[in-house]
Amino acid sequence: MTVERVGVVGAGTMGAGIAQVAALGGYETRLHDPVPAALDTGVERLHSALIKGATKGMWSEKDADEASGRVGAAHSLEDLGECDLVVEAAPEELRVKQRLFATLAEVCGPVTILASNTSSLPVTAIAAEVPRRERVVGMHFFNPPALMKLVEVVATADSSSEALNATTEVGTRMGRTPIRAKDSPGFIANRLARPFTLESLRMLADGVAEARTIDRICRIGGGFRMGPFELIDLIGLDVNLSVARSFYAQGGEPERWRPSSIQEGLVAEGRLGRKSGKGFYEYGEDTRRKPDPDLGVAAPTLDPAELAKIDPAAPTVLPRLLAQIANEAAFALEEEVGSPADMDTAMRLGFNWPRGPLELTTLIGAERAVDLLEELRQTHGDAYRPAPQLLAAAKG
Ligand code: NAD
Repeated sequence: MTVERVGVVGAGTMGAGIAQVAALGGYETRLHDPVPAALDTGVERLHSALIKGATKGMWSEKDADEASGRVGAAHSLEDLGECDLVVEAAPEELRVKQRLFATLAEVCGPVTILASNTSSLPVTAIAAEVPRRERVVGMHFFNPPALMKLVEVVATADSSSEALNATTEVGTRMGRTPIRAKDSPGFIANRLARPFTLESLRMLADGVAEARTIDRICRIGGGFRMGPFELIDLIGLDVNLSVARSFYAQGGEPERWRPSSIQEGLVAEGRLGRKSGKGFYEYGEDTRRKPDPDLGVAAPTLDPAELAKIDPAAPTVLPRLLAQIANEAAFALEEEVGSPADMDTAMRLGFNWPRGPLELTTLIGAERAVDLLEELRQTHGDAYRPAPQLLAAAKG
């Protein structure tokens, strides 16, 4: 099927950006929000982002003008009736999304693809009240949608290959890089990112190193753009904790996804990160971090001599982090959450990782990862249980 008209529901942070890339991709685009002021603001933001992008040379003025001309405000859901694909970016509440999808199924044609931009709710549950569920998919963008290249096209057990392929094509025309994910907790990118913060929090709890040191090691030795604690401070400790709780609950409470009690304590104290002025760091007037010194380390590396240049804890911190990254990727592969190539793409584009989790698995080696996990499991329990697929790779 060919998509020509795209509808976007919810004109907030994500919706306005999604409508922008849809219009830039050449689609007639209709943006809807039930709150008139939010709709006006969203449409305004979209137009000014198009002008700003042209000034910065991201696209031509002509492209910006033409894209602006393709966007219209939809004052009711019925105004989306002619759309071939509707992307929902309404608040992250299951009941709200279920009702929206049921209404969209009524007002749109029988083959209109209904896509949700949810980050954490099962797409299958959102589709519960839709009569023809084969046309329901996930289309998960990253924030800000106009800059982040990744889009996860999420398949439920009912999604038709026609709907999935058409959504993938739309993602490509929007200038994104689509990957295919199974409808499962956090899909691919957010799930594979779990160990980056959770294992760092466990190392902090163990006294392996301070937050600041772990961050430095991850940046200089790991090649990550930000350390895990800087990242949590930026996201908000409370927001990151609620993501952690959602994974833990949806995954059937596996030990490796157990939320950190240190983080729970900080949230209870109101240390929420940058937005509250205090998190793992304290923020004064100038919140910029000084650039790291050039130690001549070619990141990412696990060479102990190289790592020792950064900090005495680095030869412990980085292998432990990579072992858990490799482990999560192995669990995800076993659950057929996505292909190995898509997993690497997800983390490079969605989280700016220097290498994908499977590339990092190659760096550490399955055997070393398993040895480390088994050793830690003896003292720390099931959070370090190696995935069967990683065990098999270590033996193979
Ligand atoms: P937001 O709060 O910025 O925007 C939500 C918009 O939905 C608001 O303009 C609001 O007026 C509107 N709205 C309220 N009730 C509605 C209804 N019944 N029907 C339609 N619209 C309604 O939220 P956001 O950050 O843009 O998030 C939207 C969705 O995108 C959520 O599902 C979220 O999980 C997902 N998401 C967010 C991010 C992110 O980083 N913000 C990233 C990926 C996915």
